[in-house]
Amino acid sequence: GSTWANVPQGPPDAILGITEAFKADPFAEKINLGVGAYRDDKGKPYVLPSVRAAEDKLVASRADKEYAAITGVSNFTAKAAELAYGADSAPLKEGRIAITQSVSGTGALRIGGAFLERFYPGAKKIFLPTPTWANHNAVFSDSGLEVGKYRYYNKDTIGLDFEGLVEDLKAAPKGSIILLHACAHNPTGVDPTPEQWRQISDVVKEKEHFAFFDMAYQGFASGDADKDAFAPRYFVEQGHNIALCQSFAKNMGLYGERAGAFSLVCASAEEKKRVDSQIKILIRPLYSNPPIHGARIASTILNDPELKKQWLGEVKGMADRIIEMRSLLKQNLEALGSKHDWSHITNQIGMFAYTGLTPEQMDVLAKEHSVYATKDGRISVAGITTGNVKRLAEAIFKVTG
Ligand code: PMP
Repeated sequence: GSTWANVPQGPPDAILGITEAFKADPFAEKINLGVGAYRDDKGKPYVLPSVRAAEDKLVASRADKEYAAITGVSNFTAKAAELAYGADSAPLKEGRIAITQSVSGTGALRIGGAFLERFYPGAKKIFLPTPTWANHNAVFSDSGLEVGKYRYYNKDTIGLDFEGLVEDLKAAPKGSIILLHACAHNPTGVDPTPEQWRQISDVVKEKEHFAFFDMAYQGFASGDADKDAFAPRYFVEQGHNIALCQSFAKNMGLYGERAGAFSLVCASAEEKKRVDSQIKILIRPLYSNPPIHGARIASTILNDPELKKQWLGEVKGMADRIIEMRSLLKQNLEALGSKHDWSHITNQIGMFAYTGLTPEQMDVLAKEHSVYATKDGRISVAGITTGNVKRLAEAIFKVTG
């Protein structure tokens, strides 16, 4: 028989299934709200002008194609750390942040998972919020960690279950690893307030937990890169030696370039040196060293004050468009006479809105209105435009009564 005769058919990726159904629909006004990538108001992919400018500079420089170091392009990671932690971050100034380039945010999570699996002194179990980005589970279990969960979302309020969250963090064994979305929680768009973050930090400290931050949307959430980095920076100020995953997919629109970083705040420069050496030992057999092009684009932007300023303006432009589409959707639903409270649409933040629609309602949206999104009621606000928001609101209104 064939060597692979016993390989079972796996389930298709939930998001890719939506794209296929969308493509197969012949209706001209169909709407795709499944994609996790920014679209402009014409529904088209958007390459940031700052990214185009950086690429032009790169091409003109005739740079060579030599290998990067195992931990990547160093003038990229240095600036990535500064962007995340802030230029006056104490551990940054004290040279005790170990950082490596990664294959975007997913690769950062995977390096982090592998490092914890190898070196975390406590129980090798990571607690994820419920719900969380679908890939978290697979990344951490494939890294060899056990995966647990803590309460996060309250479907009755379509908001944060703060009490449940705190209770679960308190109930977790001392020294547990806790995954936190730094901002723009995916899929719910529900974030803790700064005051709630302070309380979460206190509980994490009291329980001697380890805070592992996933920051895939810095700047993209509020339009302000410093504001979006509040939580990890606050934790660091409070003395937590955190892990941090960064992605430049959303905030620079570098999706397919796979530019990201993984960092660990260490207790001292000497500890950082040891951690660095082990991160290299871990990465070398995985992929030897990371791709250079995306990191060079990001580095060109972050190292040029003018381009950086331009980029921050463009990030704000993307965030503002998303925020505007949230209020347009809400306004349109209200104008139609919807009796539901849609304030969660504008209270939530980031690429996604968690509508509160049921899987059955999402099915009707797709089948009868050609509006495609995941069954959990998550819609990508990036797929909404001034041109389709009215029809979208009508469809949601019809489905929700
Ligand atoms: N974490 C979260 C929460 C995300 O939403 C994403 C992107 N969908 C990622 C990580 C990683 O994305 P990428 O690998 O494209 O940077």
